[in-house]
Amino acid sequence: MTRTLFVTTALPYANAPFHIGHMMEYIQADIWVRYQRMRGAKVYFVGADDAHGAPIMIAAEKAGLTPQQFVAGIASGRQAYLDGFSISFDNWHSTDSPENTALAQSIYLGLRDAGLIDVREVEQFFDPVKGMFLPDRYIKGTCPKCGAADQYGDSCEVCGAVYAPTDLINPYSALSGATPELRSSEHYFFRLSDPRCVEFLQGWTQDGKLQPGVANKVREWFVTNPDGSGGLSDWDISRDAPYFGIPIPDADGKYFYVWLDAPIGYLASLVNLFGKLGKDVDAFLADPEVEQIHFIGKDIVYFHTLFWPAMLKFSGRKVPDNVYVHGFITVSEEKMSKSRGTGISPLRYLELGLNPDWLRYYIAAKLNSHVEDVDFTPSDFVTRVNSDLVGKYVNIASRVAGFLSKRFDGCLATDLGADGDVLLADLRAQVPVVAEFYETREFGKALREIMALADKVNTYVEAHKPWELAKVEGAETELHQACSTGIEAFRILTILLAPVVPATASAVADFLGTEQFTWDDTAATLGGRTIGRYAHLMQRVDAELVEQLFEPAVAAIEPEPVVTPGGEALADQITIDSFAAVDLRVARIVAASAVDGSTKLLQLTVDVGEPSPRTIFSGISSAYRPEDLVGRLTVVVANLAPRTMRFGVSEGMVLAAGHADAAVEPGIFLLEPDAGATPGMRVR
Ligand SMILES: [Zn+2]
Repeated sequence: MTRTLFVTTALPYANAPFHIGHMMEYIQADIWVRYQRMRGAKVYFVGADDAHGAPIMIAAEKAGLTPQQFVAGIASGRQAYLDGFSISFDNWHSTDSPENTALAQSIYLGLRDAGLIDVREVEQFFDPVKGMFLPDRYIKGTCPKCGAADQYGDSCEVCGAVYAPTDLINPYSALSGATPELRSSEHYFFRLSDPRCVEFLQGWTQDGKLQPGVANKVREWFVTNPDGSGGLSDWDISRDAPYFGIPIPDADGKYFYVWLDAPIGYLASLVNLFGKLGKDVDAFLADPEVEQIHFIGKDIVYFHTLFWPAMLKFSGRKVPDNVYVHGFITVSEEKMSKSRGTGISPLRYLELGLNPDWLRYYIAAKLNSHVEDVDFTPSDFVTRVNSDLVGKYVNIASRVAGFLSKRFDGCLATDLGADGDVLLADLRAQVPVVAEFYETREFGKALREIMALADKVNTYVEAHKPWELAKVEGAETELHQACSTGIEAFRILTILLAPVVPATASAVADFLGTEQFTWDDTAATLGGRTIGRYAHLMQRVDAELVEQLFEPAVAAIEPEPVVTPGGEALADQITIDSFAAVDLRVARIVAASAVDGSTKLLQLTVDVGEPSPRTIFSGISSAYRPEDLVGRLTVVVANLAPRTMRFGVSEGMVLAAGHADAAVEPGIFLLEPDAGATPGMRVR
């Protein structure tokens, strides 16, 4: 029976380009999808950008863009990666789309009608400067457990403690530096603790479909401890305006938390695809034969095995048939980190001319059906690809193809001789074994099996030595049989490898003059057909090129936001004349006071060596108390045009330093000249 599959990968957050971890997941899912398509399955393989939430709203504001413009910029970069690594998505969409809005609101209303939505008062930190409730990540303070400074609102990176933001000592907003206020607000909750949800999920997660390790992990989440802790908790699914997200239909000024609408993006992308195809998506999803499969990383199991199936189930929709969980990718055993320089940029890989099929092969060789991390070790990568793909596989064709074109006009023998037949029968006998490995995502085992078959083929070729037969009078038939057997075997190996190395398989199909391969083609033979002239299929990996993967990326190759000093790129170059136009003077702060009606500004009275002091309003109130500033020397822009503000006229600007993103590095630091400088001295 023909299978029909709806397959997704986790939706990447639209605040950065893809990294190697994304590509690993896409490669894993793509291999499985390509295998299914070769088996004749009808597959709808879709992805989308996860576009909503506070981090994107804040990043867009910082970049001076609307959130829509910001995510559009990220989305425009996606295709280069997907095409570059032969990821065969049928559609790429966005959670910030009309389809997702309609679906999220409809799913929510379904859950509400099922009695699974509660409204509760929640106390939360509010940033009085930014005028918004602060996500946990944007509240920092001192860890209540170990006393470490500058820890996030949800957990301490020093001692690992997990707590509520309200537990932090001396909390401050990472956005403005202001002290947050506790304010109360109505929040909407999905009642995951409802007995109906618990019963359904215990069945759905423990019926044997999930990977054993995943099912075990999920089982722990159901357990209620004697002290009443543990068990499934209700889920806060609302956020207050301002928020970049989907409005909750019956609640003014409330939006769905990004994690509610993110997985719905799977369906939105499918709906969008079916719209383009002119097909009925409701009929498709109502078909019990359709299998819905999600590939995800181990960090989002909770969302995909509890919230997501329950949301679908209790809004009256099809639930997933399975969730396939993978581990993370490490580079030389280190967790991927750009700051440590161990990250591999997928675009740089392509730009260096490294073959995408090599990376697909290497990652596949390390993948299995378990939730295990995969390590990319450069030396291992070079050895594995050169030994397997080039040394064992491509080598077969390069050793026999030349004789076929030179001596037999490229025509393959129909009679392969007894040991040729035996070899091909051996290969074909293992086809179902390899198939089962692909089906169960045991890609490493599949490739080991295929390479064992390649070893057999090489043994056959070495036994017959075409390069010697070619010199022997009267050995024409044996030469023809040996080379034809070699090509037939090479073709079977290519079909088995095709889900992993699609570009190479496509080149082989062209060389052999055949259609693109299906799985059943392993049973067929090319006897009597004429093949093309062999052109070299694959280079050996150049280890020096792989080393260059780890050099700092240059802007032309890498459109990722490059690491920048203080969180922002340097401004355009200027001439000395432009600099001379700015008149900087040493100034003494003679008075300082808070500004009524502003949480940001301080009013400073500064002596710049002129007959009378100036008034300057400065946005440093989050960092300095007025009384601590009096008497200090600093530097001001003395020839700045006076600026009329709500609180008075500002006659210049005080110089202070700060990171572009206070969430990364909070604080504002006033400039101060060395001792001895006096008010009025020019800075040059
Ligand atoms: Zn701590």
